[in-house]
Amino acid sequence: MTDAEIGVIGGSGFYSFLEDVTEVQVDTPYGAPSDSLFLGELAGRKIAFLPRHGRGHKVPPHRINYRANLWALRAAGVRQVLGPCAVGGLRAEYGPGTLLVPDQLVDRTKSRAQTFFDGEPLPDGSVPNVVHTTFADPYCPAGRAAALASARGRGWEPVDGGTMVVVEGPRFSTRAESQWHAAMGWSVVGMTGHPEAVLARELGLCYTSMALVTDLDAGAETGEGVSHTEVLRVFGENVGRLREVLFDAVAALPATESRDCLCTHAHDGWDLGIELP
Ligand SMILES: [Zn+2]
Repeated sequence: MTDAEIGVIGGSGFYSFLEDVTEVQVDTPYGAPSDSLFLGELAGRKIAFLPRHGRGHKVPPHRINYRANLWALRAAGVRQVLGPCAVGGLRAEYGPGTLLVPDQLVDRTKSRAQTFFDGEPLPDGSVPNVVHTTFADPYCPAGRAAALASARGRGWEPVDGGTMVVVEGPRFSTRAESQWHAAMGWSVVGMTGHPEAVLARELGLCYTSMALVTDLDAGAETGEGVSHTEVLRVFGENVGRLREVLFDAVAALPATESRDCLCTHAHDGWDLGIELP
């Protein structure tokens, strides 16, 4: 459909100022994605932006059509995805403004379709086989390296690794849930990092999460808990430098045809039963 190469799933702050953006509406066998794709070029790389929550932030985390989002990006030609997101810090040292590039995740979502391989026929009549995708390391090592180097290049020392626990939302955690997450040794808590990561892997896409801490989660601070106003304020303060790091990371990603990371081998030996777009 298009020749995009790199996908970015994030807020409108990441693409709205780009020149020569082409908006493309995409439909998928799983329905419509959160919004149109916004195609543009950055550092000589062709990119497709997708506002995760739709324009105006209308889609809450638990109602995002993650399958449609990832399918639409792959159909547009995307093979590597960067997923910036806002998270809560689970340790006192991960305060607001911390940038963490996780290397593990824990799924505590409840109601989200998180596989393409559920045996349900697609509209074209093809039927995906049951496939069990390798997911021990959920993030692309090459993408993580690009994100970390880009943050350091901008003088923003990132946290290299850690576990993002993804909760169903849209509410924030109770104090007990937050203390439990922290006691398990997990680093940050978010609402959108899953099933984004596994659906990318199922489509053979490289996926890298870049987690901006906007608040200390309920168990890690002593105040009244997380407020949406505070999250928006800290995100607003950091969106500029996050965008710089993100764009540097786009430029630093390996050439798509040179990829030989684990993401590209997730389905070695499997018969998927369907053609990926
Ligand atoms: Zn990869």
